[in-house]
Order: sequence, then structure tokens, then C-alpha cells
Amino acid sequence: MQTELHNKWQQVIARDARQDGRFVFAVRTTGVYCRPSCPSRRPRRDSVEFFPTPSEAERAGYRACLRCKPTEVSAQAQFVARARQILDNAEGSVTLQQLSKQVRLSPFHLQRLFKRATGLSPREYQSARRMQNVKHGLRKGDDVTTALYDAGFGSSSRLYEKAPQQLGMTPGEYKRGGAGAKITFAIAPSPLGRLLVAATERGLCAVRFGENARDLEHDLRSEFHAAELHRDEAAMKRYVDPLLAVIRGERTTIDLPLDVRATAFQMKVWEKLREIPAGETRSYSQIAREVGDPSAVRAVARACASNPVALAVPCHRVISVSGDLAGYRWGIERKKKLLEREAATV
Ligand SMILES: [Zn+2]
Repeated sequence: MQTELHNKWQQVIARDARQDGRFVFAVRTTGVYCRPSCPSRRPRRDSVEFFPTPSEAERAGYRACLRCKPTEVSAQAQFVARARQILDNAEGSVTLQQLSKQVRLSPFHLQRLFKRATGLSPREYQSARRMQNVKHGLRKGDDVTTALYDAGFGSSSRLYEKAPQQLGMTPGEYKRGGAGAKITFAIAPSPLGRLLVAATERGLCAVRFGENARDLEHDLRSEFHAAELHRDEAAMKRYVDPLLAVIRGERTTIDLPLDVRATAFQMKVWEKLREIPAGETRSYSQIAREVGDPSAVRAVARACASNPVALAVPCHRVISVSGDLAGYRWGIERKKKLLEREAATV
């Protein structure tokens, strides 16, 4: 409950228009209530209370803000808000047909509105939410089975079917620093410094640059502290060679399988990054638009910064709108050189 209030407050501070229609916030000192996106100056946290609907705020004695007119939240936003409420409170999964009946909107329109507002289809939304709940449960220390049931997965096999794709590892491994996973890695010299490449049996899980092999290996071992790690240059050649060829500008694309942990949002961003051709760049806001959430520019930047596999997910091809290189997890100099080389090769 505390976290829910905290989330609402964060959404109010962010003036998150996607929350309009989901709740209103009321200010005790002024007696006025607003929609989350109201442009007015934010009050102190302790003078704010939240209501699910305008009428409940009015019953408590508040009046509607004249600036943001919370009672006039668009009908579209109300459909989406209603759909999210149903999905958030559903015990099991809800089909598009069922949802469309409950909010009284055709499946086609509902799907389109929902996707525009949240960036996900109702089905993806449910799946992402359940994943989030499982991860949350696991971090709190619940055992895997409890977390699964709490998150609304009827049987554990359903999550295990999904897990390799979405979490990159099975949930048990996720909990314990990669326990049970076999990770092979190699460290090679490259024109941009030492390159560490690591993979599970399913695909690449880490591609990183560094100044020296010892630090790179140390960081890898502490992140996957419970995994079985082997250094094997020969076994990793099939991954290392194409990556080195990209750094040298001898090839422009990499099509290697990935095995990375990611939220649904990160996964969407990384997939978009993989579509940027070598020699081209995109801005963070372009990517935000492409994943269907133009206001998520910061979240896109965070997803780029948290990319675990350099080059394989070419986060170096995202720069700021002004043309400024912005940041790079492995140093701005490396980003600059990579982009120069790609521009010269294509
Ligand atoms: Zn207002």
C-alpha cells in the first residue's frame, strides 16, 4: 500500500499524462483536486490525498481544478484506465474479447487505444506485470513457487516456458546470482581496449570494454557470483571474432543470440536499437516514439545505459537530439570511435 501511494506521488511529480483517469490528487491546503498531469505547481507531499475518481474527491469536499479540469479527462483515457484497472485486479489472465466486453469498446479499438497509451497490448501488459510481480517476489525472498502463485501464474510450468525469453535465465538462477548457469567467457585485446565476451549455453550475456583483464574478470565474477564460470578463448571464438570485426569496421551487423535479463520495456528498446543500421544514429526521443511512448525519453536513456551487451545491442548509435554524443556505458571516447568508424565504412 505504501508503495502504491509512493508510485502515485511519483506520477504526480512527473505529471504523467498516462495516469489521467486512473486517479486524482487533492490538495488539503487549497481544497482543489487535479488530474495527475495538471501543469500547476506541486504541493507538499503531506498535504496531498488521492482518490480513485473525481466524484469521490468531491464527496470528500474538494472542488475540481479550473486549470486541468479533471472531470473532463478524455473518454479514450477513461477506456484505457478502466481496462488497466480490470487487468491489474484480475486473478487470472483476461482475453482481449473479455476485456472488450467489460469496457464496452470493440476489441480492435481497445487494442489500439491501449497500445497507444501504454506502449503494450493488453496481453503484453498482463505478461509484463506478472513478470514484474515475480521478480519483485523473488527479491523479497519468496521461494519461486510462492512468487509464481502470488503473481497469478496458475502453474509454474507456464512461467518456466516464458522465462528463458524474458528473464534470460530461469527464475531460480535469477535469484541467486546466476546459480546453475554455465557461463563461458573470453577476454581479447581490441582497438578499443580489452573486450570481455561472456555467454551461457543460450547466448551472449555480457559484452564489455575495460582497461585490464583482471578488473573485467573480477566484475563478471561478482555479478554472476553463483554461476559456474569458465574462461575459454577457443570456445568463445565464434562470438569474439564477429565482435572484433565490427570494432575494426570490417562488418556492420551482428546476429548473435542473446541471453540477457530484461524487463519488457528494456527488451523493446534493445530490439529497436538492433534495427538501427550501421552508419546511422537515432536520438533518445526517436526511440521513445518508436516504442510507442514518446514521453519515456529518460527511460529509454536508462535502458541504453543498462545494456549488458555492447555492440550486439548497438546502444552507441543513440545520441541526443542536439547531435551531442551523450553518454556511453563504456566511455564516450569509445562511442566516438565506433561511430566514426561506422560512418567511414558504410
Ligand atoms: Zn489542476
